[in-house]
Amino acid sequence: MAEVILEKVGKTYPNGFKAVLDANLKVDDKEFVVLLGPSGCGKTTTLRMIAGLEEITEGTIKIGGKVVNDVEPKDRDIAMVFQNYALYPHMTVYENMAFGLKLRKTPKPEIEQRVKEAARILGIEQLLDRKPKQLSGGQRQRVAVGRAIVRNPKVFLFDEPLSNLDAKLRVQMRAELKRLHQNLQATIIYVTHDQVEAMTMADKIVIMKDGIIQQIGDPYSVYFEPKNKFVAGFIGTPAMNFISAKLVSEGGKTWVVKEDMKVLVPTDKAAKLKDLVGKDITFGIRPEDIYDKMYAVAPKDEFTVKGNVDVVEPLGSETLIHANIHGDDIVAKVDPKSRAAAGQMIDLVFDMTMLHVFDPETEENVL
Ligand code: ATP
Repeated sequence: MAEVILEKVGKTYPNGFKAVLDANLKVDDKEFVVLLGPSGCGKTTTLRMIAGLEEITEGTIKIGGKVVNDVEPKDRDIAMVFQNYALYPHMTVYENMAFGLKLRKTPKPEIEQRVKEAARILGIEQLLDRKPKQLSGGQRQRVAVGRAIVRNPKVFLFDEPLSNLDAKLRVQMRAELKRLHQNLQATIIYVTHDQVEAMTMADKIVIMKDGIIQQIGDPYSVYFEPKNKFVAGFIGTPAMNFISAKLVSEGGKTWVVKEDMKVLVPTDKAAKLKDLVGKDITFGIRPEDIYDKMYAVAPKDEFTVKGNVDVVEPLGSETLIHANIHGDDIVAKVDPKSRAAAGQMIDLVFDMTMLHVFDPETEENVL
C-alpha cells in the first residue's frame, strides 16, 4: 500500500516565513493527486517535505502507514521527477536510468532488465546510447520519468515536469503521463500551477493559496462546487465572472440586481439564499453559462442582461465576448456564429441554474 498522509503539516523557513500551514491530506494508494496553486503558494515546499528534501516544522507525514518525519529521502521509497529533469550530462540515457539502481547495488542483469522495460514503456529504447544534450526536451522528460520508473517506488513525486516543454508537447505529455499512471497503477503526487494540467490528469486536486489548502476534491467538484471565490476564479478558462450585486426579493421571487441588471434566481437556489436577501453579494457565473440572446434556446427576459461589448475574440469553435455590465468586466463564451461587435450593446442570457453566490467579505461560497 502506498498511501501518503499529511496530518497538520506545517513549514516555517529559518527566516520565520510560514510557507505551509496546517496541511491535512490523504493520498490513497494508486491515486493521482495534483497540488495546484499560484506561484509561491507552498506546493513545492509540500512536495519536498513528502520527499524528505525539506524538514517538517509541524505535524506528521506517513508513507505506506509509516511515519517518515525522520526518515532519509533515500529510504522513503519515493522517486521524484524535477522540473529541470536533473539528468547527468556526461552519462548516456541508459547510465542515467541505471544510476540509482547501481548505487543500491542492484545486480547488473536486473538493472538491464528494469531499464529496458522502462525504456519500452516510454518508447525511448532507441535513445539509450545517447547523451542528454542529444535529446529534445520531450525526450529528456521521458528519460527523467524513466529514471523514476526503474526504481519501482511506492510513490512518484512530480514537480512541474512539463513546464519546460512547448505548448504542443505539453498537451501530448499530459496524455502520456495519464496513460502511464493507468499502466503503472502507481501513487502519484504532482505539482503544477497549470489548472488545465490539474483538471485533465488528477483523480483529486488540492488547491493551495498562501500556504493554506483551500479545497480538496475531484475535478468535477472543484469546478462545479468551488468552496470559495479563489477556487472559483482559479479553476476554469476563461475564469468565472464575478459581479458585485445585491440580492433582492420582489413579487415573491428572488433576484440578483445591479442597477438595471435584474436576473431571477431559481426557486431551489433562492431557498438557500433567503438570509441574504437585501444584502450585498458577489454573483459568479462562468463564461460558458452566458449566451448571446440571438443564439439562446427560448431566452427569457428574466435571465437577460444588457452588456457593452468591449472586445470580440472568434476562436473558431466558439467566440469570446468581453463585455462590461455596469462597471464589471465579464467574458461570455458564446456560439461561434455570434456577430457581436465592439462598441455595440448586446443582450446576454445567463443560465441561472449555474449561478454561484459568494459572501463579499469572507469570499465563501454560500450556496
Ligand atoms: P512556484 O510555483 O513558484 O514554485 P510554489 O507554490 O511551489 O511556487 P514554494 O516554492 O513552495 O511555492 O514556496 C512557498 C513560499 O515559501 C514562497 O513564498 C517562497 O518564497 C518561500 N520560500 C521557499 N523557500 C524558502 C526558503 N528557503 N526560505 C524562506 N522562504 C522560502
